[in-house]
Amino acid sequence: MGTRADIRSFTGHELKEYLIMKGHRPYRGEQVFRWLWTPYVHSFDAMSNLPKHLREELKQGFHLKCLEPIKVQVSKDGTRKIASRLEDNALIETVIIPEEGHRTVCVSTQVGCAMGCRFCRTARMGFIRDLTPSEIVLQVLMAIEELGGKRQAIRNIVFMGMGEPLMNYENLSKALHILQDTSGMDFSKRRITVSTCGIIPGIERLGQEHQVGLAISLHAPSSEKRSMLMPVNRQFDLRDLIGVLRRYPLAKRRRITIEYLVIRGVNDSPQDALELSRILQGIRVKVNLIPFNEVEGIPFKAPGQEAIESFCKILAEKGYTVTVRKSKGADIDAACGQLYAKIKDNESPRG
Ligand code: SF4
Repeated sequence: MGTRADIRSFTGHELKEYLIMKGHRPYRGEQVFRWLWTPYVHSFDAMSNLPKHLREELKQGFHLKCLEPIKVQVSKDGTRKIASRLEDNALIETVIIPEEGHRTVCVSTQVGCAMGCRFCRTARMGFIRDLTPSEIVLQVLMAIEELGGKRQAIRNIVFMGMGEPLMNYENLSKALHILQDTSGMDFSKRRITVSTCGIIPGIERLGQEHQVGLAISLHAPSSEKRSMLMPVNRQFDLRDLIGVLRRYPLAKRRRITIEYLVIRGVNDSPQDALELSRILQGIRVKVNLIPFNEVEGIPFKAPGQEAIESFCKILAEKGYTVTVRKSKGADIDAACGQLYAKIKDNESPRG
């Protein structure tokens, strides 16, 4: 592929500008962009309504990145985890989660992660590299192809896979533009949620530049507990994070999702629930409780059902909307915090 530019990392606007600069008609940019984000288009030759000379020019100037699923695992509950190998042999995972009447795709933004959250399996890979905009968006296209090629097969996109999206802000930002482009996959910003462990400068930028949904992996109601679970809290303290959430420019009828992993004996007491309700007071949030999934090598335990119910009740009594996330895909290590790319070379492509 040499030094040819990765055309699928171009936003629609950039592509249009580029082709105009090369002397092409303005509509060509949109036409090419549409092809780039059409399922099953894996070569410039497949872009059948482009003149031959333009296809040749694109071949000379650009690399058309594709993402090949090398292993698809399907859980008992219908969750699908797709592992893909990137051009440098790095592995990433994407999860398709079935929900009532629709599906959500959970995409990765980095290979591994540098944030070191103690409950997370991805953290154990360490940080390998950022994904490019094309590698981020191609996961959605691949999920659409996996489901038969209809864009409508996917309703929501959540950035909750491997990596911390806001530590790869520039590429995330381009990916958001590409996903929402009406000439491409045309996802509404209401259908996209970016989840972060609390990178304050990134949250502020995201609020100013994109009006997509925001989810915060909070997981503890005090700085002390949070720093124990999530080293990022030593850099971006809970108190400052809560301050930023208070000022976050939310669109009408939108709320910030507070993700709270409930871990037995760590953060699941009634006092923790009361403390959480206190710090969130006055912020437009909904709380999503995630019972911890026990994972090999991680020294935490799943909470008891009673603890979850009482935690939920306390928050609800304080006026919060609370949901308890049903664990999806735990039998194939696709549940929250379980992503860890580990495909052996000799494994069969579809497990
Ligand atoms: S929970 Fe998210 S931010 Fe924390 S280490 Fe895992 S992937 Fe990174």
